[in-house]
Amino acid sequence: MEENIKDLHVLIVEDNILNQKFAAAVVKKMGYKADIVANGLLGLEAYKTKKYDLILMDIQMPVMNGIEATKAIRRIELEEGKDEHIPIIAVTAFAMEQDRKNCMEAGMDAFLAKPYKPFELQQTIEKIFT
Ligand code: MN
Repeated sequence: MEENIKDLHVLIVEDNILNQKFAAAVVKKMGYKADIVANGLLGLEAYKTKKYDLILMDIQMPVMNGIEATKAIRRIELEEGKDEHIPIIAVTAFAMEQDRKNCMEAGMDAFLAKPYKPFELQQTIEKIFT
């Protein structure tokens, strides 16, 4: 399957402004488009209203955390019988084995510990699309 990786539209769900800017800079440097929202509920709304290729999901956020938002997205995919599974990368400072397990059980595809280097996010994204 050929995927034009340059056309990716990435949704960044992150409450910390510095982390938002950092993630967006990496994504844009890769040549992709990025939208930013500040919590899981806004992420869920964005997912429902726009077509994205990838979500970067922080875990600890106000209003709705990344685990809840991911579960809600997977539920929608299941209920609407979508055959498209949107890749979700957990980006979190909680990097214990149990945190990783919780993310995978919630339906995330990959896990990236904060703080991360630009190339680590880049590699994680590229791995998903190859
Ligand atoms: Mn956070």
